[in-house]
Amino acid sequence: MVRELSHFVGGKLTAGTSGRFGDVFDPSTGEVQARVPLASSDEVRAAIDLAVVGQQIWGDMNPQARARVLTRFLALVERDRDDLARLLSSEHGKTFDDAKGDIQRGVEVVEFAVGAPHLLKGEYTSGAGRGIDVYSMRQPLGVVAGITPFNFPAMIPLWQAGPALACGNAFVLKPSERDPSVPLRLAELFTEAGLPDGVFSVVNGDKEAVDALLFDDRIQAVGFVGSTPIAHYIHTTAADQGKRSQCFGGAKNHMIVMPDADLDQAADALIGAGYGSAGERCMAISVAVPVGQETADALAAKLMERARALTVGPALEPGMDYGPLVTAAAVERVSGYIAQAIDQGAELLLDGRGLVVPGHENGFYLGPTLFDRVTTDMTIYREEVFGPVLIIARADDYEAALAMASDHEYGNGVSIFTRDGDTARDFAARVQVGMVGVNVPIPVPIAYHTFGGWKKSMFGDLNQHGPDSFRFYTKTKTVTSRWPSGIREGASFVIPTMS
Ligand code: NAD
Repeated sequence: MVRELSHFVGGKLTAGTSGRFGDVFDPSTGEVQARVPLASSDEVRAAIDLAVVGQQIWGDMNPQARARVLTRFLALVERDRDDLARLLSSEHGKTFDDAKGDIQRGVEVVEFAVGAPHLLKGEYTSGAGRGIDVYSMRQPLGVVAGITPFNFPAMIPLWQAGPALACGNAFVLKPSERDPSVPLRLAELFTEAGLPDGVFSVVNGDKEAVDALLFDDRIQAVGFVGSTPIAHYIHTTAADQGKRSQCFGGAKNHMIVMPDADLDQAADALIGAGYGSAGERCMAISVAVPVGQETADALAAKLMERARALTVGPALEPGMDYGPLVTAAAVERVSGYIAQAIDQGAELLLDGRGLVVPGHENGFYLGPTLFDRVTTDMTIYREEVFGPVLIIARADDYEAALAMASDHEYGNGVSIFTRDGDTARDFAARVQVGMVGVNVPIPVPIAYHTFGGWKKSMFGDLNQHGPDSFRFYTKTKTVTSRWPSGIREGASFVIPTMS
């Protein structure tokens, strides 16, 4: 029996009325497990109507009272963590432990957002002139929207909603139509925590729903995370509509392995960061760049041994290293990249195509795939694959490796494995990538720093979470006041200065 999912509007689950639906699969079995309604523009506008009303109540509450609602929300997520993780695994296909990590990373940003009263304090200058004080305050934007990808259905909505709500905004979420159930559950938990109706809504849908958000004047800002072409579209359209936006796109993350690195540590890091979550992470490492032929030969052997030993199977079965991809289309797309790489001359060390998991023959599985001697002109080097495919692109020396990561059109994350402090420091300073790891495989910054790539991995000015999120979700108002008002200086026709 295929379940019919809802939207979450005005503080409750509401059935879709557009008559359009999308399939939600269980990637482990390949079966359709639910239908998600795809909202019409009218349904999106109705959600914004209620968000406007809710925001007036929420925005008027003091920051500490708002933070208390978020604190109660955190306790409810803790209560339901395992159920949320199971639900997440069943629609996304990542393992249960990895799903718990997805939730935990989102929780950490909400924990950070609970510090809103401190972060919203603004600035104050006493005595900026005779009797003059200047202060600035951060005010909510109003109603803001989030459009999120399938690969982190808990973490990314919470990365956006935590700070947005803490700042006093109402938030309309358009999650991925592939795995919408966890966002819907999060909406119910926000309401249970005491969030006023309308302040957090979920409208499920596709381009029609996204465009309804982009072209509605009441939406003040848009946070987007997903693929680069859509990130670019959202960013340019939002700008054209006079909206603030931060749009995070695709990635091709390199790991440089220096000859002095601990190769076992580097190989373990590459296997986890390359194949974890079936490579469906924007911070997955997809390119290993060993420096020197000797390092490359040794690293390739270690990667082969480890990749071959990986266990791939149903998301909720214990002991799996990773589960299925999100859809059959994703398996087909990644398989196409593998075939193309072979045609273009890459050396296939391990082929994951055609993996059949007994008892789950229709699941969307792809075994670990490993290529060596990939060159920078090959499609598999230039484009994001977003699957369990790790490529080795050999570099002759450090400068060549640094140039590879810096010259790639994506600039999300990068990592270097070395025992040499000078090299690590030079690399961190010079590489043209937004997030850098030193002997760290997935350099996703912690909640109170900010997250954001460079080049085609990010369009906009302010990063996600950390202090930037409070700048993104507030507008600054600066007040210049003079007391006592009895000072008489007469009219002045020159611009006031500090001289
Ligand atoms: P996607 O771009 O297909 O979808 C993202 C969102 O955009 C979804 O909500 C989707 O419904 C919507 N969308 C899709 N097509 C649209 C269109 N034509 N017009 C308007 N909206 C549209 O991405 P995905 O497949 O869900 O997620 C994977 C991608 O996300 C990868 O490229 C990955 O690198 C990227 N990602 C980036 C980050 C980051 O922080 N840089 C984090 C996670 C994922």
